Amino acid sequence: MTLKTGDQYIESLRELKTQVYMFGEKVENWVDHPIIRPSINSVKITYDLAQDPEYADLMTAKSNLTGETVNRFAHLHQSTDDLKKKVKMQRLLGNKTASCFQRCVGMDAFNAVYSTTFECDKAHGTNYHENFKKYLTYIQQNDLVVDGAMTDPKGDRGKSPADQADPDLFLHIVEHRPDGIVVSGSKAHQTGSINSHEHLIMPTIAMTEADKAYAVAFAIESDAPGLFMIYGRQSCDTRKTEPGADIDVGNKQFGGQEALVVFDKVFIPNDRIFLNEEYDFSGMMVERFAGYHRQSYGGCKVGVGDVVIGAAALAADYNGAAKASHIKDKLIEMTHLNETLFSCGIACSSEGFKTEAGNYQIDLLLANVCKQNVTRFPYEIVRLAEDIAGGLMVTMPAEQDFKSDLKVPTESGLTVGEWATKYFQGVPSVTTENRMRVLRLLENLCLGTAAVGYRTESMHGAGSPQAQRIMIQRQGNIAAKKELAKAVAGIKE
Ligand code: SF4
Ligand code: FE
Repeated sequence: MTLKTGDQYIESLRELKTQVYMFGEKVENWVDHPIIRPSINSVKITYDLAQDPEYADLMTAKSNLTGETVNRFAHLHQSTDDLKKKVKMQRLLGNKTASCFQRCVGMDAFNAVYSTTFECDKAHGTNYHENFKKYLTYIQQNDLVVDGAMTDPKGDRGKSPADQADPDLFLHIVEHRPDGIVVSGSKAHQTGSINSHEHLIMPTIAMTEADKAYAVAFAIESDAPGLFMIYGRQSCDTRKTEPGADIDVGNKQFGGQEALVVFDKVFIPNDRIFLNEEYDFSGMMVERFAGYHRQSYGGCKVGVGDVVIGAAALAADYNGAAKASHIKDKLIEMTHLNETLFSCGIACSSEGFKTEAGNYQIDLLLANVCKQNVTRFPYEIVRLAEDIAGGLMVTMPAEQDFKSDLKVPTESGLTVGEWATKYFQGVPSVTTENRMRVLRLLENLCLGTAAVGYRTESMHGAGSPQAQRIMIQRQGNIAAKKELAKAVAGIKE
């Protein structure tokens, strides 16, 4: 079986013994937990859409490893066309979920580890590429979700991994055994870690010889002994636990998920190791994974941005303000910004190239420019959306008030629900409930649970802005530009 259904994915999660902690307690049934389940639904739809002929071209691909049809999230990109389809698939999923659908980190890790292990083997005579091909074949054939995990907690930012007061602040090898290695440490703010079957761990920065115990990449089952996760809470998350939670949640069905993933002396067998102290390849793996994930943001954030723009336009309709020229202009500006991000995602894909291993890599400079723009434009899109929505987005009474039958002891004898409904009516043709729904969706996207995936993740996900600026400086080739200027100006030195 190479393509699971969404329901089969959910059932497969129930078989895992993944250890999850939240609000100071162990969560036994995390699959059905009201705070976690929406994030699982976002991954489920990556399976559901792959079954739909309408989306087959974007959602599936032919594996270069097995020749079979696989979910694109488990695919090694074989052309620039594959790279572009990846971005379009992410936009599609952003449209459908209005949140982070999490499965991209694994896809980006597969492609980075595949090409880096090939070049590492060539330099060091290691066998990581074959290990990885075998591993990815297993993942593709079982259509599994893998959390690509890179970011260590990092402790004191002024110190290297080996110089930290607590050596575990970067994940590292604590023991070498004939049959494998033992690792300790953690990976922080891991997208989609709980609902992944497996984890693919990579180092977080370029390393020197002193840090070689930290230059480690491997795969591990999410429920392996010694591995556990502490759930990251999100703004307004407990609204999901309110009785009958619906409208106030903003997006009842879908959400994103982040967690701290902890490794306390976890054993990794030899055939699941893809880097083992070859510190000179740590930087390559980081750069390639980060590059792919910076490309990804030109798809997923654009897809969610489409929903933000649509919600803002609906809010304007419901307020009776849609014809105002400044509203039209703000929607144009939001669209311009959003499509600029998409252009970056497509551009770095179109300019992609074949790696030595044979899969395709994006243009690194353009992918970093893409992500740098993502650290800015969604903030402006959200600012304009809040402008259009009006203050009611954050001052509206609770869903329970709108539904309340409690009579207010005044002359008219109306209930709390009737009063709230009366005074929050916009244009007469639209129900107050629909107006509430779109404003709560915007609240969710701008500053609620989805803001994790749309706003703040736009800043820090796939690397904070300064990380892209370093790459832009490295790739920008100012020296060649100086030569251009000299030639045009007639300067001979
Ligand atoms: Fe995918 Fe975007 Fe979430 Fe990253 S932030 S996992 S690219 S949806
Ligand atoms: Fe992300």
